[in-house]
Amino acid sequence: MIYKRSSELFAEAEKVIPGGVNSPVRAFKAVGGTPIFVQKAKGAYLYDEDGNKLIDYINSWGPMILGHAYEPVVEAVIEKAKLGTSFGMPTELETQIAALAVSMVPNIDKIRFVNSGTEACMSAVRLARGFTKRDKIIKFAGCYHGHSDSFLIQAGSGAVTFGSPNSPGVTAGTAKDTLLAKYNDLDNVKILIEANKNEIAAIIIEPVAGNMGCIPPVEGFLEGLRELCTANGILLIFDEVMTGFRLARGGVQELFNIKADIVCFGKVIGGGLPVGAFAARAEIMNYLAPLGPVYQAGTLSGNPLAMAAGLAMLQALDNDRAIFKRLEEKTAYLGAGIEKVLKANNVVFTINTIGSMISVHFDANPVTDFKSAAAGDNETFKKFFHGLVAEGVYIAPSAYETWFITDALTYEDLDFTINAIDKVSKTF
Ligand SMILES: *Cc1c(COP(=O)(O)O)cnc(C)c1O
Repeated sequence: MIYKRSSELFAEAEKVIPGGVNSPVRAFKAVGGTPIFVQKAKGAYLYDEDGNKLIDYINSWGPMILGHAYEPVVEAVIEKAKLGTSFGMPTELETQIAALAVSMVPNIDKIRFVNSGTEACMSAVRLARGFTKRDKIIKFAGCYHGHSDSFLIQAGSGAVTFGSPNSPGVTAGTAKDTLLAKYNDLDNVKILIEANKNEIAAIIIEPVAGNMGCIPPVEGFLEGLRELCTANGILLIFDEVMTGFRLARGGVQELFNIKADIVCFGKVIGGGLPVGAFAARAEIMNYLAPLGPVYQAGTLSGNPLAMAAGLAMLQALDNDRAIFKRLEEKTAYLGAGIEKVLKANNVVFTINTIGSMISVHFDANPVTDFKSAAAGDNETFKKFFHGLVAEGVYIAPSAYETWFITDALTYEDLDFTINAIDKVSKTF
């Protein structure tokens, strides 16, 4: 494939945008080469600026669960745009999408819409702190909750005491309120809670991790967190920005029948427009301004274009009760096919999958936390990535990412992908 136009466009972009991109992972730093510039997308396919067609397994990092340019979403946005794109005043549409979301997700009474997953997680933590009148939070290494200061934390020297910033610009003061735990390690969480008695406001977690590859919780892990939180007056925040409206109608709470105290959304809930949301039972949500003392606001929050796209998306998912099963079957088919060809070509690998999320790790050991995810062979991944692009298959340009299966993918697309992987893995 030829990437002449993409290379030219990237060179132009680099002059006026830092690194040529508006979000770092788009820049191909982990795999080398220059990013592919997209012209348009429809269904399961991307069309780039050089006229190449690619089967898409990123899907805007999750939102396009029904494929690109899904007709009802596109129509809803066009119709709303004609009536004005933002008012900064309440609209009926906001209540409609809120009511639908509340009806689909277990254990939430009220929801507030924001503009990104980052905002949702940041606001959820502030709400938890205000509600519990405590300052500290626990997060897990390898879980991503957006780029706000409290989450850009790595393990400090005294891991049981506090974390340290993993980006310049995050203050040591902020970092000291974030404790870092190991994913799938309940004992580690217990130690942190013991060492910080009555100081922890919330545990925030991706209940199925998707930002270090796809890592499902081991049996008993989420149940254990729930019990620890309840016993210690800590709020359990499920960051379902990736998993919400994807792994089940009601997300991971429904899938594993576990109650979170606050749930964060993004990605699918916006149908491809900038939307995030956080939700909880009324007692907690009523703590937010203007009812309660915890401040949170947004000029464009709940704007009609975003709400129209989100509502059309949620309605489509709500009306198609077979969709999550269908996506799971396609993912399992793809996973089995990849396993077969990689084995046949003597590649060392581990595949993690749940629902419509799947990740391929070039390491023989089980991938259950950040450390095991980081053990994968990145040189093999680079060859894998560039080889697949050359075959017309686009996966995320980083070994730490989950692939997203959409309803627009056909079994022919999946077979095409498996064949491409067969071909590419012969060259390792
Ligand atoms: C994508 C993501 C976020 C951040 O959402 P943005 O809309 O990119 O700010 C937060 N949490 C999880 C689990 C995510 O996958």
